[in-house]
This record gives sequence, structure tokens and C-alpha cells, in this order.
Amino acid sequence: GLRTRGVRVVSCPSCARQGFDVIRTVQKLEDALGHIKTPMSLSVLGCVVNGPGEARETDIGITGGGNGKHMVYLSGITDHHVEDDDMVSHIVRLVEAKAAEIDAGASVSMDTLHGKAA
Ligand code: SF4
Repeated sequence: GLRTRGVRVVSCPSCARQGFDVIRTVQKLEDALGHIKTPMSLSVLGCVVNGPGEARETDIGITGGGNGKHMVYLSGITDHHVEDDDMVSHIVRLVEAKAAEIDAGASVSMDTLHGKAA
């Protein structure tokens, strides 16, 4: 709750169940999303134990799956799969698109809807 601008990233501590390297992925995403100033949220969870629950409350969510195929959630709803190779750049594009929508007033962040916006 310290950050008042930009992407609020929610992630799990990761464990043996993770479908991808959560810690490294979060680091890459945070580096790649530093230019986004729009308040919004992104959940990065390694598996379906906690992934869908967190994704339900964030603008963009990703949950690790088997065989390098992971689930993407948009505005809390299951939307499509993404494969390992594409994952970081794909999520960056989705966050940029969502930020542009929010900035244009065409969309509202889930954080605003759930009262989590700073
Ligand atoms: S969400 Fe899955 S990968 Fe992440 S800590 Fe929980 S059980 Fe482990």
C-alpha cells in the first residue's frame, strides 16, 4: 500500500507448485512496467491454489499452469492462455492497454471498484 501510482503487483511467495518462476517473473514485470503511472493492479501467482482468488480482484492476473501454459485473467475473469516464452511481453502489453483504457476513462481499475486505490 506504499505505492500511490503505477501498477500494484500482488504475487505469491512461490513454492514447489509454481508453474513458472514467480520471483524472476515479478522482477522482470516490475522492471518492464516502471513507466506505467496509472494506478492499477496485476496478480502473478504460481498456481491455481491462490491464483484465481487473487486474479478475481486485480485488473490483470496470471496463474501458473502445467506444461508451460498459463491462464490470463482480465478484470477478474478467466480469459485466455499464454505460453512461457511469451508471458512477460504479453502481460506488459495487456497492462499497457488497460492503463490506456483507464486513462481514457473507458475503463475503471478493479482497485477503484474494490476500494483499494490509493
Ligand atoms: S499460489 Fe501456488 S505456487 Fe504460489 S505459493 Fe501458493 S501454492 Fe505455491
